[in-house]
Amino acid sequence: MNPIEQSDPILWQAIQQEQNRQDSTLELIASENHVSPAVLAAAATPLTNKYAEGYPGKRYYGGCEFMDVIENLARDRAKALFGCDHVNVQPHSGSQANQAVFLAALNPGDTILGLHLDHGGHLTHGKSVNISGKWFKSVHYTLDPKTERIDMANVQRIARECKPKLIITGASAYPRLWDFAAFAEIAHEVGAVQMADIAHFAGLVATGLHPSPVPHSEFVTTTTHKTLRGPRSGMTMCKADWAKKLDSAVFPGLQGGPLMHIIAAKAAAFGEAQQPAFKVYCQQILKNAKVLAEALMGHGYRLVSGGTDNHLMLVDLRAKSPDLTGAAVELWLQNAGIIVNKNMVPFDTRKAIETSGIRVGTPALTTRGLKEPEMKKVANWFDRAASSGGDAQVLAKVRAEVTEFTRSYPLPHLTCTAC
Ligand SMILES: *Cc1c(COP(=O)(O)O)cnc(C)c1O
Repeated sequence: MNPIEQSDPILWQAIQQEQNRQDSTLELIASENHVSPAVLAAAATPLTNKYAEGYPGKRYYGGCEFMDVIENLARDRAKALFGCDHVNVQPHSGSQANQAVFLAALNPGDTILGLHLDHGGHLTHGKSVNISGKWFKSVHYTLDPKTERIDMANVQRIARECKPKLIITGASAYPRLWDFAAFAEIAHEVGAVQMADIAHFAGLVATGLHPSPVPHSEFVTTTTHKTLRGPRSGMTMCKADWAKKLDSAVFPGLQGGPLMHIIAAKAAAFGEAQQPAFKVYCQQILKNAKVLAEALMGHGYRLVSGGTDNHLMLVDLRAKSPDLTGAAVELWLQNAGIIVNKNMVPFDTRKAIETSGIRVGTPALTTRGLKEPEMKKVANWFDRAASSGGDAQVLAKVRAEVTEFTRSYPLPHLTCTAC
């Protein structure tokens, strides 16, 4: 019996319900994934008991000898995966990985330049409600209205005009590849530091399936829980000459004690990402995304920029039916057992709580073992639910089919005989 079940049945019930929800639904949220039994096990160890403020070899607490082994393992594996000079594996999240760069490289009031949130950027790239928008002068580049891709000539024009201290690349809802070399050229010209936030596609970078920013960017930040398939957390990489400033920014600048159980889980995930099977997994993410994109377009949906080069796509619902909103479709899909998030499309006329788009990604379904033929089934269920007008009977029918289908693809830790 699980100790939580024994000591706290109320908490246990909610945890079980969430596990069942994950197991019986199709996870299409592009930023989510299902971790391996080893990553899950590492996160649930007594390492959570330990204070290890400082860094390997320079701690502020006694008893850190094994913490040093674990943190060095995570660092060495991250360096091998990404080929970076230096890495800090202590940021608690992707947001804090970015804040560490701001603290290391900027002063309050400096200008930063990043992709607009409504065009796929992230909250931490200068949105007014975020610390990045409150403490810095935030300027944004947007997508070309015709191609719905980043227009480098436009980025150059804006950068020359606003003379940013920091240029941010990377996004949360951009289905195309990034030209980090072109951004670096602009950054050098205007005297800016470049930060690549690869939170979404880090797994693809680690396996050589997306161009790497590491040779071109002073800083590379990422989450560890999206395509990288590790625990919910972050990390920041940098060029050697920024190492000291970065480490002081993370601790003592932003954080106290590191989450050593999560750093152990990162080490486990990075070890998995170094295996040949992880590259096969990432290749399958891309194949699945291509097939899902084609299938959705076949059902009459328009995809922003006309398709995808990575693990995600942005469905513009207006081509299917002008009245469809992201909020309504998100709810209908959820009732049918398909989990997505509503998302602004570029130049959206609706607000963020309503939206005209749905963001869809294949990392989690690929982890469960779904391949190209299953993507066509998923697109079919998606279409039936999104075209249902909210009809409860239609949604219940799809929900039953989805539930039955998921039984053949249990979550990774539920297939683990040792768990
Ligand atoms: C997810 C994401 C983050 C933030 O990660 P959290 O761990 O949720 O703080 C930062 N940047 C980008 C581009 C992301 O997609």
